[in-house]
Amino acid sequence: MVKRSLYQCLEAKVLGDRIRCDKGHPLNKISKDGIINILALSRGDPLELGVCQKCNEYDEMGPPVAPEDRGWVHPPGFQTTKRRGRPRKMRTSP
Ligand code: SF4
Repeated sequence: MVKRSLYQCLEAKVLGDRIRCDKGHPLNKISKDGIINILALSRGDPLELGVCQKCNEYDEMGPPVAPEDRGWVHPPGFQTTKRRGRPRKMRTSP
């Protein structure tokens, strides 16, 4: 069974450096406000939280995001399916 992740739910919102559930469900049992830090998202962690697995307010916005397409902080040599780097400038003849 494919687990639900925060990447797929429209109710998961990024606010600055934090992620919260718009429906008010606690994404983190430890913090008082139930909000999680964006570090896990930046690393491309699965973000398959227990609270989301049986949530009746899950609002799927699409298929799962491929692991190689998650996050933006990766170890050296990490391969992504996204286009890499900036587009090169075309040379113009003088
Ligand atoms: S699945 Fe439920 S708990 Fe998880 S982000 Fe969506 S609404 Fe919030």
